Order: sequence, then structure tokens, then C-alpha cells
Amino acid sequence: MERTFVAVKPDGVQRGLCGEIIKRFEHRGFKLVAAKFLQASEEHMKKHYLDLKDMPFYAGLCKYMSSGPVFAMVWEGQDIVKLTRMMLGETNPAESKPGSIRGDLCINIGRNIIHGSDTLQNAKTEIDLWFKAEEFVNYEQVFKPFLYE
Ligand code: UDP
Ligand code: MG
Repeated sequence: MERTFVAVKPDGVQRGLCGEIIKRFEHRGFKLVAAKFLQASEEHMKKHYLDLKDMPFYAGLCKYMSSGPVFAMVWEGQDIVKLTRMMLGETNPAESKPGSIRGDLCINIGRNIIHGSDTLQNAKTEIDLWFKAEEFVNYEQVFKPFLYE
């Protein structure tokens, strides 16, 4: 089993899309293991997006991501890092296929409503940045035998 970090960005929260996004992960069969609603600091967002520090949009991105509340989550499932990226669509919603979250729900690259870790290594780093060990909930997904053979 893998874990990945997913966050509804301030635009997704303001547009009332947390429920829609959570629904898609629930319906896929993934297991929610941690979640919190918070407004992140700009410093926190600079750490989160450190890989992009040399990009021209980095400063604006970090400012935007700290401008309002985000819904941060950790989801668990088989191959979840890759499958989440497929569910998100492309970084640019205009290039995202219908059926994907970005392809269905947004238009603009700077307002693409959701974050999802791009690699297993980055998922681990991001989960550690956003969540403490005691924020995870241990429970069994009762329908697991009907999701995985
Ligand atoms: N972004 C942007 N302009 C760009 C590229 C990216 O505003 O030209 C923003 C966008 O919100 C994106 C985030 O920066 O989601 C992180 O970029 P990344 O390449 O990691 O895309 P993601 O992993 O979110 O698909
Ligand atoms: Mg990324």
C-alpha cells in the first residue's frame, strides 16, 4: 500500500469543491488516513513547493496557496501516487481530459484547484511536511476484500 498527499487549494475550497474531490477519492476506493482544514503560511508553502523555487511563478504560487484555507489530506491505496495523478489530469486544466478532476472542474493553470504528490518520494516528503504522526487515524477499510483480490 502507498500513501499520497492531496490538498484542495484555496480556489477549490472557495468554489465549494472539497466534497466533490473527496467523493472522487472515496468512490475510487481509496482510504482516508488523515485530513485537516487550515490556512498554511507562505513559509510553509515555500517549503512545499521548494522544487519549483527557480520558476517564475514560484513566489505568486506560494502567496496564492497561503491566501486562504486549504483542505489537506493523506489517502492510501494500491499504486495511489500514480492513480491520483491520473485522476487530477494535467497541470494545465486546458490540457486535462474530461473525466479528470482538473478537466471537469477548472480552466486556468494558476487556479487548478487541487494538489497531488507526483512521486512516491515526494509523497513521503510532503506527508511529513504537512502531518504529524498523531494526526493519522488507524482503522480497517471494511470492504477491502471487495477492492483488492
Ligand atoms: N503553476 C502555475 N503556472 C505554471 C505551472 C504551474 O501557476 O506555468 C502552478 C499550478 O498551480 C501547479 C503548481 O504551480 O499546480 C505546481 O506546479 P507543478 O508543475 O508541480 O504541477 P502539479 O504537480 O500541481 O500538476
Ligand atoms: Mg507538482
